[in-house]
Amino acid sequence: MRSLTDLPFDNTYTRLPEAFYARTRPIPFTNPHLVSFNPAASELIDLDPAEAARPEFVEYFSGKKQLPGADPIAMLYAGHQFGQYVPQLGDGRAILIGEVRGRQGIAWDLHLKGGGMTPFSRGFDGRAVLRSTIREHLGSEAMHGLQIPTTRALCIIGSDEEVYRERVETGAMLVRLAPSHIRFGSFEVFSYRSQHDLLRQLADHTIEHHFPHLDGTDGDDRYVRFLTEVVERTARLVAAWQAVGFAHGVLNTDNMSIHGITMDYGPFGFLDHYDPGFIPNHSDPGGRYAFDQQPGIGLWNLSALAQALLPLMTREAAVAALDRYEPVFLNAYAEHMQAKLGLRQPRPEDGELLSELLAMMQASEVDYTNLFRSLASFAREGGADGTAVREMFPDAERFDAWAARYRARLGAEGGEPAARAARMNAVNPKYVLRNYLAEAAIRKAEDERDYSEIERLLALLRDPYSEQPEMEGYAAAPPEWGRQLVISCSS
Ligand code: AMP
Ligand code: MG
Repeated sequence: MRSLTDLPFDNTYTRLPEAFYARTRPIPFTNPHLVSFNPAASELIDLDPAEAARPEFVEYFSGKKQLPGADPIAMLYAGHQFGQYVPQLGDGRAILIGEVRGRQGIAWDLHLKGGGMTPFSRGFDGRAVLRSTIREHLGSEAMHGLQIPTTRALCIIGSDEEVYRERVETGAMLVRLAPSHIRFGSFEVFSYRSQHDLLRQLADHTIEHHFPHLDGTDGDDRYVRFLTEVVERTARLVAAWQAVGFAHGVLNTDNMSIHGITMDYGPFGFLDHYDPGFIPNHSDPGGRYAFDQQPGIGLWNLSALAQALLPLMTREAAVAALDRYEPVFLNAYAEHMQAKLGLRQPRPEDGELLSELLAMMQASEVDYTNLFRSLASFAREGGADGTAVREMFPDAERFDAWAARYRARLGAEGGEPAARAARMNAVNPKYVLRNYLAEAAIRKAEDERDYSEIERLLALLRDPYSEQPEMEGYAAAPPEWGRQLVISCSS
């Protein structure tokens, strides 16, 4: 385990020419203090969790001191935002402190969000508010607990700094870890500027450091293989989101990681009742990024990436790479949903079994997470919870017809019911980060500087597939106040 001052930095991105970034430094803020620290993430970079207790920890991660070996930059990128190309974005309020290699040889970006203005701030203040850092911190760790690829959360530093949004809030900084922060938009910016040399350099850098298994591939073929791999990873990521009921909220191409991991948590949401048109982001009235639009948006965004990479490959090759999206997505989604239903041997009629269940859930506004979780005991014939599931559906006749088909289907598959229930519980989480749970932690933090609820949720969501009897209440569908929460882009 390492101390703060001997983290092994190896900053590969700053070895690229300065056209790729701007050197910058975080701007410290008033009365910084540690709000939350996540030892699980610190282990990824071999940082001794005991270091979080030192006063220097806050100084290093709020810009007062610079970690030895760090080389802070704001990365340049562009992106399609709500369908429109924005020629220059870049880290307007985030700073890549540097890259640290963990003991298993895996390198992690140390990335500080809310560090003040950078050359890419476009007139905005470069800050993040406490509310949004708590949401990202909890959201990313919840996602990791669900075994869905994501950036990780190291810590939140709070402050007394006033930050102006719809109201006065306090500023905070979040430190997160990711294999890199290279986005679809990192490629778009050079392509649209016709800087094809820089585009090729970025592709070479990305392959060398992040897709090394493609490095030996001959000639330009490796760029095609790279694109194909991003397509497939993204398809699998979106399938995992759809299966767990996660809506990202702002799937602009600058929020799409080339690693196929969930990144840039803003106005995201997990489904409470099943509503395919669920729009988590109040600033998206048209629902471009509604829950059920995500699979199509994933392909749209990949097409923007493919378009940007055209100087490096033929159109036919790019189209062939994109053609992988649909089969990989459909296959991954079907596998997730079959597992959620407790089925192991796929059959043609399974699609209809699922769509009828979803249709009933939509019609009766049944809670998505709780319904799937309770299916395990429902599936065990004669299980006491059978009636509890049935009672979720006012249309008993329709439900009974479905249940008869489901039971017949399970019967045809055979197998030991207890083993099946265990398998189902391992893929149907009991706990997700419902908006109202995050909101309760935020209110305590904002109103009382009481951060205990953040820790409670981190512990809960680390293990979302296990029963945690003392936490039973956290599995509940939202109370009335929690159904009305409004989450916007402004954060
Ligand atoms: P986001 O919606 O957080 O993904 O941000 C989209 C773009 O706007 C990125 O380039 C951000 O760096 C930038 N941005 C968002 N909020 C701020 C802010 N308060 N100050 C400066 N730039 C910001
Ligand atoms: Mg972003």
